[in-house]
Amino acid sequence: MLFKKKRLAVAITVYWILLGYIVSGLVWWFIALETQNQQMAALKVRQMKMDTPDYITRYDAIFTEENKKTAQYIGEGSTFLLSFLLGAGFVYREVRRQIRLQQQQQNFMMALTHELKTPIAVTKLNLETLRKHKLDEQRQQKMIRAALQETDRLDVLANNILIASQLEGVGYVQSKESLDLSGLVEASMQDFRHRFPDRPWEQHIEPGCTILGDVILLQLLVSNLVENALKYSPREGAIDVKLEHKGRHVLLSVKDQGPGIPDDEKKRIFGKFYRMGQEATRRTKGTGLGLYLCLKIAQDHKATLKVADNSPVGSIFTVIFKTR
Ligand code: ADP
Repeated sequence: MLFKKKRLAVAITVYWILLGYIVSGLVWWFIALETQNQQMAALKVRQMKMDTPDYITRYDAIFTEENKKTAQYIGEGSTFLLSFLLGAGFVYREVRRQIRLQQQQQNFMMALTHELKTPIAVTKLNLETLRKHKLDEQRQQKMIRAALQETDRLDVLANNILIASQLEGVGYVQSKESLDLSGLVEASMQDFRHRFPDRPWEQHIEPGCTILGDVILLQLLVSNLVENALKYSPREGAIDVKLEHKGRHVLLSVKDQGPGIPDDEKKRIFGKFYRMGQEATRRTKGTGLGLYLCLKIAQDHKATLKVADNSPVGSIFTVIFKTR
């Protein structure tokens, strides 16, 4: 990793040195050509005899010619410089984007390994404990619930990865049918309440919200938004899920009382593998695929997905679906 960073720093330094060299070379050529141009004009003037009949006209012609050449050098030079700088800027931006993506992919692979191993380890341990020891009913239930929570997380993770790769290719055939979004959100919330009974939940689900959509994708959208609200807010912070009609639209919003999302991150969080903060100091689990998928699913349903600040703290994710 350190070796790669060093190589990258060397490559970037070489890039800037070359860029500086080319630009200063161009400036040097301009100065040289312009000096030569002035010298040529002065020589031509000197070679003219004062008693030449059309001295003034020829004198003027020499300087018009000189000015024309200067304008030509400036025009050509600046066009070249501008296109060169534009090209160099474009290459730099693209390379930086690729490097960032590669870094995020690497982080994703590391997070994925961890995300896969933890639920498997917890579930295995709990099952082995249940098999080996005679526990009282309450402790048994606690262990079973913990194991179920972990397998559910694994399930969401597997779905995210599978569907992300399928949606990018042509592997996923969406079936858009008229579906009862109210029922879907209600069922999803029941599941969350069951899995996390200690969290303060609030829900306002208007019945009869029907849209055209794909059940599996919409379930994934809802569970990713709610999972994030759970993951990024304190245990005592209420999570408010609302579904309602507004004119010709159906609005789904998930509010939490977490740390919120700074304005300059509000667009970036929807990027593939993007996770806020530094890899070394981050404590929450995740792969950076959830919101990327949510946005993709919303777009596939011709819906918009927005994030705003909750008051006084937290975030509100809102999906706006068209009803017809
Ligand atoms: P993951 O949660 O796996 O990291 P996501 O794509 O779901 O990936 O989210 C991307 C990033 O956006 C997260 O890493 C987190 O920093 C931020 N984020 C998402 N949802 C919330 C939320 N409800 N509150 C605060 N930050 C959030």
